Amino acid sequence: MLSDLARVTAEIGRDALLTQGAGGNTSVKIAGELWIKASGAWMRDAETQPTFVAVPLDELVEVARNGDEGALRVISAPAAANGLRPSVEAVVHAIIPHRAVIHAHAINSTVCAVLGDGEARFTAAMAGLGVRSRYVPYIKPGLPLAAEIARMNARDGTAEVLLLQNHGIVVGADEIAQVYALLRAVESALTFPVRRFSHAREGLPELERRAFEWDARHAPIACDAGLCLAVTAAPLTPDQVVFLGGAPCLMADGESADEAADRVCRETGIEPALVYAPGRGAMRRVSLSEGQRAQCAALAEVAARLPNGARVLGLTPAQARELIDWEAEKYRRAADAARR
Ligand SMILES: [Zn+2]
Repeated sequence: MLSDLARVTAEIGRDALLTQGAGGNTSVKIAGELWIKASGAWMRDAETQPTFVAVPLDELVEVARNGDEGALRVISAPAAANGLRPSVEAVVHAIIPHRAVIHAHAINSTVCAVLGDGEARFTAAMAGLGVRSRYVPYIKPGLPLAAEIARMNARDGTAEVLLLQNHGIVVGADEIAQVYALLRAVESALTFPVRRFSHAREGLPELERRAFEWDARHAPIACDAGLCLAVTAAPLTPDQVVFLGGAPCLMADGESADEAADRVCRETGIEPALVYAPGRGAMRRVSLSEGQRAQCAALAEVAARLPNGARVLGLTPAQARELIDWEAEKYRRAADAARR
């Protein structure tokens, strides 16, 4: 069972359209324990590096029911043996009754999860698949999300597929092969066409300067007035806040990328990873880690699938702030920086 989990986890991790960097997690429940991906570990490394941690299932369920952050910190302390600590989503996996669970930041699911009409689209697509599904309005990941899912399960029964608004997808099944097939089926049922961009510019040397370089994936998005507005208005997902410092920042006329980023950093205390010059192109910070680059690419993949004229939902400043200040996310950022 654990070798199956490692194999499927690594396979998901190698597909940038299913997960990126240390994002997403998988688990299986065996003999009263939840075996779950460790926080900061990459799914793609699941077969070659220590990736999973065992946590007593009943303790996690208890913590999720009473919302006890202190008790969760004790349970989630790094295991002495290998220093790994369970994913912040361990409580979410625990309260889902299925034996095998996958949570992924899969691109098409994420597109659906950021659209104003995402719930209606999702419900229709899942009815077509014949699975029990539920749309979960945005709530902070970890304990608040687990408590909300537990409340919904108690009221309406359990679901096999959960779309987490502004976050991603959760699927559950009894067997690992089944749950992986379900993830693929859901992604395929939610497929959004990729836009074709005509933009051909190769760079903006006069704007790149020291700390930023041209980003060919984001450039055409910055050149599309509607997409540029949708993507820069607010961060779309928690990982974008945690790893990219929020939404791409906008360059003012006459500013270089460095100057725009410095201005935003002075105003907010956060270093933006991406800078857009509206109508001209986009740049990313030269010093980004591999994990941050994966997040940059994921944002471009999501943006390129946003339907023309669609209303896009972003995280509010308060929702972004609670992620930046969260100890569990500081741990993930530190783990990412340590991989450089
Ligand atoms: Zn997630």
